[in-house]
Amino acid sequence: MERKLLEMQARALADLEGAGSLDELNEIRVRYLGKKGELTGVLRGMAALKAEERPRVGQIANQVRDKIEDRLNERTAQLKDVIRRERLAAEILDITLPGTVFNVGRLHPLTAVTRQIEDIFLGLGFSIAEGPEVELDYYNFEALNLPKDHPARDMQDTFFITQEVLLRTHTSPVQVRTMERTAPALPVKIIAPGKVYRRDDDATHSPMFHQVEGLAVDRRITMADLRGVLQVFAQQMFGPETRTRFRPSYFPFTEPSAEVDISCVMCGGRGCRVCSHTGWLEILGCGMVHPRVLEMSGYDSGEVTGFAFGMGVERVAMLKYGIDDLRLFFDNDIRFLAQF
Ligand SMILES: [Zn+2]
Repeated sequence: MERKLLEMQARALADLEGAGSLDELNEIRVRYLGKKGELTGVLRGMAALKAEERPRVGQIANQVRDKIEDRLNERTAQLKDVIRRERLAAEILDITLPGTVFNVGRLHPLTAVTRQIEDIFLGLGFSIAEGPEVELDYYNFEALNLPKDHPARDMQDTFFITQEVLLRTHTSPVQVRTMERTAPALPVKIIAPGKVYRRDDDATHSPMFHQVEGLAVDRRITMADLRGVLQVFAQQMFGPETRTRFRPSYFPFTEPSAEVDISCVMCGGRGCRVCSHTGWLEILGCGMVHPRVLEMSGYDSGEVTGFAFGMGVERVAMLKYGIDDLRLFFDNDIRFLAQF
């Protein structure tokens, strides 16, 4: 019996060495250790043994089972490892390759610049106001001191929807709407960013573009306040070295009116191609709110004064980033947009 057990162990171990697959190993397990396997068969013969021999033979049988089981587990682990290696080799999986890279989205440069402008003016105590893009002639022109026959209307090639309804040509109507809503309360300090529309299309004009309007109305507001606010804006937007200058200009809704230049961001004012060798770049228009505009919006122009300004967001972004073609902003070319 003892010899039978040892001989069976030798055969089982030899079979295990020869097994080439997990299926074969499983067959071997069933054949030797299963309920109807050889070991069970041998043990059934123990009934014929003398009582004093049984414990010793039982001990040997246990040892044989443990040995076969241990070896079976080892072989299973070995084979699994071999199979894993083969699969890796077959897939030509190079675990040193970089993983899939996901592109991270970012803000459009115009959105980024708009937010920057908003941040600067929020820091100066302004709040943000909005108005409709489809606007009444009254708010876009008449209430801004541009009656129907005013020649300055020609400066703004307008998309009319009906005779009285149009796509706003500037963000200035938000001034009027805000004053109407607020009057006679003081102060008014708002900026109004948004889209505006004009019939223009070339390298420096787009039929849709963005402006930021600014308005401050209160008692004793002077042009010095306007200068101070715009100087702070220019320095925060273009750097602390930036200088500003005011040139007399004309707008129907401000009096007096001015164009504001900043020292050239490319050459610092020495003169270069970008600034046409003048050292200055035009950045926005502004002025003191016309008394008639204040009156039409419900303020007493003998009591209060105000300043207003309007700038093109595209213009600011082009100067800030040295972009020479405005159409790049709207082409949606990822090679351009990914640079910001
Ligand atoms: Zn320059």
